[in-house]
Amino acid sequence: SGDRRWMRIVGKVKAGREGGFESIYAVMMDVTDQKQDEQRKNDFIAMVSHELKTPLTSMKGYIQVIQLKAKLGENSFAERALEGAGRQIERMTNMINGFLNLSRLESGKMVMEFRPIELSAVVKDIIEEYKTTHADNRVFSNCEPGLFINGDADKLDHVINNLISNAFKYSPSNSNIYIECFEQDGKAVFKIKDEGIGIPAENLPNLFERFYRVESTHTKTIAGFGIGLYLSAEIINRHNGTIWVESKVNEGSVFYFSIPLLKS
Ligand code: ADP
Repeated sequence: SGDRRWMRIVGKVKAGREGGFESIYAVMMDVTDQKQDEQRKNDFIAMVSHELKTPLTSMKGYIQVIQLKAKLGENSFAERALEGAGRQIERMTNMINGFLNLSRLESGKMVMEFRPIELSAVVKDIIEEYKTTHADNRVFSNCEPGLFINGDADKLDHVINNLISNAFKYSPSNSNIYIECFEQDGKAVFKIKDEGIGIPAENLPNLFERFYRVESTHTKTIAGFGIGLYLSAEIINRHNGTIWVESKVNEGSVFYFSIPLLKS
């Protein structure tokens, strides 16, 4: 009929006596209905996420204006309360962006828009944003300027935000977070170090899988969906980059990603 159908194929290759290829037998199933159902679910999540983001964006704007007024009027209680509200909006926006990106990724609709960008500029903007919503200055950054990469600024924003919010989430509130950007072997490297709970060695290989969360008494009380690192790894892969982690339980974690530098 010219329709596009989705097939699931499960098969086995049979080897001949010499060990070489002899034959293959397989079962082919038409899974178009399931696939379409999945697609509808993905579209639904994308639509809901998108709709939820719109009011949040205007709320964020209102809060920032009142926050400024409270600051000028030296109303420290209002300033602190609004800071808290701003932080919650930021958390919610990050979660919604995660769902949006996940549904786009699963349905093959995650479009990358590459252009030359400077890594330290992206990082600086995000840290400035954090400083407006987090009074306690726990983030120390040292980013080498001039590291140009071919990147999608929005998507990298999501990755960096996710790594920073994890560093906050999985470390005590009196510890520090260190961010660095530097050049290594023709690549721009982003590094974020926390002094938090750390990750057991046996969990490290699975960390970037979808819905994967480390199960421990520590993490049980920390909310999360296990999609942030999965999305981050996908986004970095699409930049021809690499993402990795080094961690020690009770000492902290260091997450890195590297992306090839632009030649000129
Ligand atoms: P989540 O929403 O659960 O934080 P992520 O995909 O961002 O999802 O992270 C997956 C898991 O990796 C987390 O549930 C947590 O167990 C672990 N993890 C991520 N970042 C850190 C970190 N900085 N310190 C300790 N554990 C971490």
